[in-house]
Amino acid sequence: MRAIFYLILIISAYLIIKSLLEPRPRNSADKIRSRTRAADIGSDMVQDLYCNTFIPKESAIKEVISGKVHFFCSKECSNKFKAKV
Ligand SMILES: [Zn+2]
Repeated sequence: MRAIFYLILIISAYLIIKSLLEPRPRNSADKIRSRTRAADIGSDMVQDLYCNTFIPKESAIKEVISGKVHFFCSKECSNKFKAKV
């Protein structure tokens, strides 16, 4: 009886240690990588609110509409968006 108890104890201890050690470094590395990737896209690309295309921030048309800064791929889109609002 005691042998089975120890066996269960060892197996559960092994599973706990395995679950603690294995996924952690992989997950945290993925999280950091995806976070930096999202930050890179966020700093360079902006979304056109009218046609929903992503455009580089430098070439986007910047419009301040009701106190908020919006970006558009073209003057046409900004005019259409302003007409819609
Ligand atoms: Zn557009």
